[in-house]
Formats: sequence, structure tokens, C-alpha cells
Amino acid sequence: MDIGFIGLGNMGRHMARRLIEAGHKLTVFDTRREAMDKLVALGAQAARSPADVADRTETVMASLPSLDAVLAVATGGDGVIAGKRVRRFVDLSTTGSRVARQIAQALAARYIVQIDSPVSGGVNGAQKGTLAVMVSGPPADVALVKPLLDIFGRVFVVGEKPGLGQTMKLANNLLTATALAATSEAMVMGVKAGLDPTQMIEIINAGSGRNTASMDKFPKSILPGTFDFGFTTGLMMKDVRLGLEEAKALGVPTEVVSAVGRLWELACSEIGPEKDFTTIVQPVERRAGVTVRAKTEHKSGHKQ
Ligand code: NAD
Repeated sequence: MDIGFIGLGNMGRHMARRLIEAGHKLTVFDTRREAMDKLVALGAQAARSPADVADRTETVMASLPSLDAVLAVATGGDGVIAGKRVRRFVDLSTTGSRVARQIAQALAARYIVQIDSPVSGGVNGAQKGTLAVMVSGPPADVALVKPLLDIFGRVFVVGEKPGLGQTMKLANNLLTATALAATSEAMVMGVKAGLDPTQMIEIINAGSGRNTASMDKFPKSILPGTFDFGFTTGLMMKDVRLGLEEAKALGVPTEVVSAVGRLWELACSEIGPEKDFTTIVQPVERRAGVTVRAKTEHKSGHKQ
């Protein structure tokens, strides 16, 4: 199938590559030329703008970092909305349901269907095709794009309403953000009292405190001190803000997530929004005066 793909960053470049490897013909666009060049080397055609992509393909996908970027790409002057051939816009970005509805409405006026399709599972999931893909949109169009989305991972169709897939994604990410923030505080507490962080993680993962931070983020990026999990604090903050906005709009209390959001705000201002989101442990460590790192092995075999 001829497919357009806009936004070839940490997530998009892997999803676009997987589509090419599955035998699809891709037309790509990114504001960074070097990001396009990598896909062109694999056989993709480079476009000049989102409108140019939408002139050449019926199905346009996007994986973009901010609400402004998604709105500009979908509905801006040189956006997908101005394309002559496009029939459907599949948004793989996390935008929240308000923006998804806004885009769906604008595109509907030009007989273009909007399909929510946010993903979860990180860069590793995008690379390996093991993402959770949360889809909502008109059933006929969803059926048409499902074989493409299957290439990215496991597809869950959550309904027809625009924005429903986004709400599902935000519910998931509020839990991701909470697990990482809460596990950071629990781990710093243990280390300050004298516990070994590696053993703590082992015990938590054998017990009832087990969660995505203890299973994945702490062992891979925090205990070794690499802070390279592949998602930024700024993007996590965006999702928490969107989740809080979504809950407020629905009249749902957010005692816990509001507190979690404050720690993410602190990590953004103190460590930096461009840093890996595993650095959220650092403001807690600084205040407690300890660090949660694995003890390194000496040649003699002694731990320090
Ligand atoms: P990224 O910043 O690595 O990539 C975004 C890409 O979009 C970049 O290549 C950038 O040059 C391009 N871009 C920005 N503005 C553009 C525009 N106006 N037109 C064309 N291209 C433009 O971001 P990412 O980590 O790949 O995330 C993309 C989306 O996926 C976000 O909405 C994010 O919340 C979501 N997401 C990310 C992860 C993750 O682990 N990184 C996981 C799940 C969901």
C-alpha cells in the first residue's frame, strides 16, 4: 500500500522502517532533513511538506512530539488537510482527546477521516514491533489500516469516537508516570536507611510492589546510572498534563496524579525536560543526600 509518514523521530523512524520492511511504499516528511535521509536510504520517497505527502498518498500517518506540531501538520496551511489524495489521517502521537476531536472535526469538513492510534511500549517496542496500539475511529477505515498497525504491535480497537484511543493512552501513561515517581521515592527511602538498591529491586519484583519502573526502568537505566531509557521528561510531563486536563474535563478527582505531576514538574525545572525520564529520581536523591545506584564489582570480586 502507498503510505505517507510524517515525524521520523525516536518512535516514527522505527515504525516507518517496519512498514518499508513489510513491503509498503512510503512517502515521508520530517522537518529534519537527516531524519528523512535515513528512510530514503531504505527506499522511501522524500516529500516537501505534509501537504505534499497528502497529495501523494491516501493513508497518512504521523508520530509527532507536541500538540502544536500535530495541529500544524494535520490542519495547518501546508498540512495534510490541503492534500488532494489523502482519505485518512492516522495519528500515532499522544495528543489527548481534545486535540484529537479538534483535528477530526477540521478534517471531516474535507472528507478526511481521523483515526486515533497512540502507542505504548517505548522505543524498544517501536523497534521490535511489540507496541500496544490503541485505536478509535470509523470501523471501515479502522479495518483498512489495521493490517498496517499490526506491523507495529498488538492492536486494540477501543471504539469509534474520536479521542477515545487518546483517553486510553493517557490512562496508561498516568500509571507509567506514577509508578516511576512513586518507585523513586520508595527506593531513595530504602537506600537512605541502608538497604542495597539492587537487592531492593529484586525483593520488590518478587513481591507485591512490582511495577513497570521496578521491572524495567530501575534495572536498565537507574541502578546502572545510564539514564538512557529512551523517553524524555518533557514528553512524560506533556502526558501527565494532558491526563490531568482530561480527568478535570470529565469531573474525575486527581489527588494522586496531581501530586505525581508536581514531582515531574520539579524534574523538568531542575534536571531538564530534554533529559531521559528516568532522571526523575534525581531531585528526590538530591534532597535525601543519597543515590540509588548498583554497587560496582571490583576485579577482586568485592562490591563497593
Ligand atoms: P521525537 O521528538 O523523537 O520525534 C518527533 C519527530 O517529529 C522528530 O524527528 C521531529 O524532527 C519531527 N517533527 C517535529 N515537528 C515536526 C513538523 N512540524 N513536521 C514534521 N516533522 C516534525 O519524539 P518521539 O519520542 O518519537 O515521540 C513521538 C510521539 O510518540 C509523541 O507524541 C510521544 O508522546 C509518543 N510516544 C513516544 C514514546 C517514546 O518512548 N519515545 C512512546 C510512546 C508514545
